[in-house]
Amino acid sequence: MAVRPILEYTHPVLRRKAQRVDAVTGEIRRLIKEMRETMKAASGVGLAAPQVGESLQILVYETEEARGCLLNPVIEEMHGDQTDVEGCLSIPGLQGEVTRALRIRVKGMDERGKPVTKEAEGYLARVLQHEIDHLNGILFIDRARPETLHRIPPRRTEPAPSGSRLAKSGSR
Ligand code: ZN
Repeated sequence: MAVRPILEYTHPVLRRKAQRVDAVTGEIRRLIKEMRETMKAASGVGLAAPQVGESLQILVYETEEARGCLLNPVIEEMHGDQTDVEGCLSIPGLQGEVTRALRIRVKGMDERGKPVTKEAEGYLARVLQHEIDHLNGILFIDRARPETLHRIPPRRTEPAPSGSRLAKSGSR
């Protein structure tokens, strides 16, 4: 078990555009494994490599509907919009409403180094857009409607009982 510390929003690595990954080496595979363990330990639904201090274009996610890993993800198509509450593992104790695309198509590479195209909708599309933002140095507070930003007890960033609004908003 190798849980890494999650960096908070004041760290400059979170504001940098992450580097593309050329090949899935043993080192990259180890990082992906550690990112998954770190995400689970923090009860998150997604995590981007810069959040553990690695400026690389890698994200992992695990929601009720899907789990996976994307390298060098680029959003090719966006359709519709959705607005909901979001939080971030790098900004504990803060939530706010963010409008994002309802459906997206993402092109990238999987953890075996094969090209992939992934389509996502609703909550999963929201999680992926949040993580892809991290890879471009963007945080949800940049996109949240300022009047909706509110503090919550840090413990509440953990998933609440399923079905509640807080559970859906999960932290990434
Ligand atoms: Zn985040």
